[in-house]
Formats: sequence, C-alpha cells, structure tokens
Amino acid sequence: MYAVVTGGSRGIGAAVVKQLAQDGYDIVINYRGNHTAAEETAAVVREHGREVELLACDVSDRIAVKEALTALVERRGAPDVLVVNAGITKDGLLALMGDEEWDDVLAIGLGGFYNIVRPLIGPMLQRRTGRIVTMSSVTGLMGNPGQVNYAAAKGGLIAATKSLAKEIAKRTLTANVVAPGLIDTDMTRDLPLDHLKAAIPMGRLGTVEEVASAVSWLCSPGAAYVTGQVLNVGGGIYM
Ligand code: NDP
Repeated sequence: MYAVVTGGSRGIGAAVVKQLAQDGYDIVINYRGNHTAAEETAAVVREHGREVELLACDVSDRIAVKEALTALVERRGAPDVLVVNAGITKDGLLALMGDEEWDDVLAIGLGGFYNIVRPLIGPMLQRRTGRIVTMSSVTGLMGNPGQVNYAAAKGGLIAATKSLAKEIAKRTLTANVVAPGLIDTDMTRDLPLDHLKAAIPMGRLGTVEEVASAVSWLCSPGAAYVTGQVLNVGGGIYM
C-alpha cells in the first residue's frame, strides 16, 4: 500500500505523511523545493518502517507533474491513497490584488488538483480501490476578506472533489475534503493570532496532528461509505 501526499515536506502535509506511515502506508512525498524539510519528514517515515520516495515538483507545472506521476504509476502501480494538500496564500484585498497573486494561488491550489489527479485517476479507477482527500479550508466555505483568491481556490477544490466523488463512487473509490480552520504552521505564523483566536469558539489554533487524524480516518476501512463530504477541523470556527 502506498500514499501520495502533495506538499508533504512541512506543516499539515508532513503530519499527514507521518500519520499515514504509522497507518501502514509507504509514502511518496511531493514538495516544491525545501529538501531539508522533506528529508526530515522522510526520516520519520523510515522510523515507522515504511518506504519513502521524494518527488520534488511544483504542482502547478502540468507537464512536469504528468511526467513524474506517469513514471511513478509505471513503477509502482496506482496509489492507494492520494492527498492533494499543496497550497499557498498570497493575501490582499481584491481592489489591490496583483494578477500574479490571483494566478499563483489558483494555479497551485486548484490547478494543482487537476494536474495531480488527472494522471492518477485512470489507474486508480482501473484498480477499483482508493481514497482521495483534498485539503481545502473553512475559507472555501465561508469566505474571508483579503483572501478572494484563496477562497476561490479552496471553494473550487470542494466543488471539484464533490463532483469527482460522484464520478468515481461506482468503482468504490471515495473522494472527500478536509477543511481546516486556523492551524499552527508556517502559513499562519505571521498572522495576528491573538486577534484571530478570539473568533474561534475553542479559543486556540489547531495542530497539524489534529488535521492529519481526520485524513487518516477518511482513508481508513471505517470510512468506506463516506464520500463527497467536507470534514471541518476548525475548533468550531464554521458550523
Ligand atoms: P505550509 O506553508 O506550512 O506548507 C506548504 C507545503 O506545500 C510545503 O510542503 C510546500 O513545499 C508545499 N508546496 C507549496 N507550494 C507548492 C507547489 N507549488 N508544489 C508542490 N508543493 C508545494 O502550509 P500548511 O501546512 O499550513 O498548509 C497545507 C495545506 O492546508 C494548504 O493547502 C493550505 O491552504 C491548507 N490549509 C492550511 C491552514 C492553516 O491554517 N495552516 C488552514 C486551512 C487550510 P516546500 O516545503 O518545498 O516549500
């Protein structure tokens, strides 16, 4: 059994990698450029006695992703689990937003979904088994000022995942979304956290392990009949 996790070098993705390794999966860690972080995460996978492969590749680079994943499937067959997690923020009010801030967030957050899933879905369907989990955000559900670009990517990811879930259900594959609230990672480190925490009913940020645990459950045998769902991990920020 093996899992592909995009953006698996750091933050939420790294926690997902470690949890899935603990669950018994060999792992392919995709990331963009932070080799040190990817190696550190890979070391933990090995400590769990699982095999690990590093796949440094920008998920917005369609040609590179297709080449890498086609070669992966030829070598190892279709993955059992695919976690589409890579994403970025480039926050700013729409009235002041630059084209690049719009394009980059959409190209990685939503374009990355297509680029990653497209080469893998055929082989996964042929094998008639598999779990897909996409990493959205509560912003994709409720919107957030300063994040029109990010909300568009994350909302699009939810719609795409639900549609995919309907396409693949007959072959017993599931596709679900995890929508974290504010989680303690590099992405949120520079935000005004004291102010933001006041809006979270639980009064604290979530941990990466708490998000990984939701992904793990969606990939477990117990979740076989759960598909097209959005699982919020947000301390009650959006109910
Ligand atoms: P981090 O910034 O901590 O980590 C981002 C990860 O994505 C890294 O592994 C990074 O690789 C990788 N990555 C970034 N761009 C690309 C790319 N173009 N191609 C391949 N990999 C890429 O983010 P988080 O862990 O906080 O977030 C992970 C996901 O969860 C994102 O989709 C984010 O939108 C979502 N999320 C996060 C929340 C939070 O509060 N943190 C809340 C809601 C959703 P490298 O190390 O090489 O740079």
